Amino acid sequence: MASSCGLMGDGDKPVKIHHLVKAPENTPESIASRESWDASKPVTVYKTPENLPDGTPCTAATVILRTKGCVWWWKSGCTFCGYFNDVRDDVTAEDMFSQWEVAKRETNEFRDCKMVKVYTSGTFFEDRENPPEWQDHVLRETYEMGLHLVVEAQAQMCTPEKLEWVAERHPGCTVAIGLEAYDNTVLRFHANKGFSLKQWHKAVDILRDNSLRVKTYLLFKPPFMSEGDALEHTISWVSEVSKISDEVSINPMNIQRGTIVDRLFRNREYRPPWLWSLVEMIIRTHDDVSKTDCRVIVHPTAGGKARGSHNCGSCDSDVVAAIERYSVSGNLGEFNGLDCECKKVWLSEIQSDSALPTPMGSGIHRRGNALDRLRAP
Ligand code: SF4
Ligand SMILES: [Zn+2]
Repeated sequence: MASSCGLMGDGDKPVKIHHLVKAPENTPESIASRESWDASKPVTVYKTPENLPDGTPCTAATVILRTKGCVWWWKSGCTFCGYFNDVRDDVTAEDMFSQWEVAKRETNEFRDCKMVKVYTSGTFFEDRENPPEWQDHVLRETYEMGLHLVVEAQAQMCTPEKLEWVAERHPGCTVAIGLEAYDNTVLRFHANKGFSLKQWHKAVDILRDNSLRVKTYLLFKPPFMSEGDALEHTISWVSEVSKISDEVSINPMNIQRGTIVDRLFRNREYRPPWLWSLVEMIIRTHDDVSKTDCRVIVHPTAGGKARGSHNCGSCDSDVVAAIERYSVSGNLGEFNGLDCECKKVWLSEIQSDSALPTPMGSGIHRRGNALDRLRAP
C-alpha cells in the first residue's frame, strides 16, 4: 500500500537522479521553444574574418544547423552544453538538405568565402545524428567549391573507417574536437565529456593518418573549479595540446540556459571567468605557443556580460577588444596600458584560491548590488 508520508514517496515510480540532471530538455519552456522552430531552415548563417590553414586572411561562413543532436547529449551530456535547444529527434534528411540549400542561398553560394564551418550540435559524421547521404553531399560539394571545411566531432566518433571516408570526400578538412581539458579527472567529473584523453590521442593519430587537420577546443573554467585553478590548469593544458594540434581555440565559459552550469550560476555557486584571467593566461602561454606552428585563439563569447567572461563592468569592453586583437595579431603589445581598479580584486581572488582550502573558489560569484542579486532568477 502506498504511504502517505512525503518521505516515503506517494506510490509513484521513483525519479532517477539521471532524469533530474537531464530534466532541462523536458521543461515546458524547452519543449515549446524546440517545437516552435522550422526544421527546414538552419539556426543561423553568418560570415566572419578568419585565417586559412596557411595563415592567409579570408572570410569564413558559419552554418549552424538544426539536427537530431548529439548522441552523447541524449544519453547524458556535457555539463555546460546548451545545444539541446537547437535539436529535435524528428529532423529528417529532407530537412537537412533543405537547410543546406537555405545556407547557400543566404550566402550567395558562399560568394567571397574561402572557408565554411558546418556545425551540427554534435558530430558531423555520426550517422545516428546526420544522414550519411547528406554528409556525403556537403563534404563533396564544399570540396568542389574550393572551400576549406571545418566540422566538429567527439573524439570517440573518430574511427579509422569513418575518417578515411571523410578524407576521400574532402581531403585536408579540419576536424574540431571539444577536448575541453587535458586532464582525465576534469573530463570525467567537471565536464562529463564522455571520452578520455586516451581516446582523444587516438583520434588525433587517426586524423593525422588521414592528413586531416586537428583543431582542439579547451574550456576555460569548467564548473566545480576555482578561478585560480582554472588559470593554472588551462596554462598547462594549452602548452600540452598546442604541441599536437594545428589550432587551439580556448573558449571561456559562457552560461547557456538549462545546463548544469546554469543551475550552479543561478544558485550563486559559479562565476564565469574574469577577463583578467584570460589576459594572464595569454601572457603566460605566449612563449610556449610561439615555439609551435599551432595557432591559438581566445574568443570570449558574451564577453563583458554577466553570463560570459567579465570584469567589473567598466573595463570589460577594452579588455575584450584587446583579447580579440591578440587573436588576430599574436602580439602581446595589445595588452599594454590596460588596467582597472578591479584588477586588484581579481588578483586577491587568484591568490586566495591558491592559498585557502576552498576547492570551489573564494571569489564573489556575481557582481552588481545585493538587491539586484536577490531579484535575479
Ligand atoms: S559532446 Fe558536444 S554537442 Fe555533445 S553534449 Fe558535449 S558539448 Fe554538447
Ligand atoms: Zn574593471
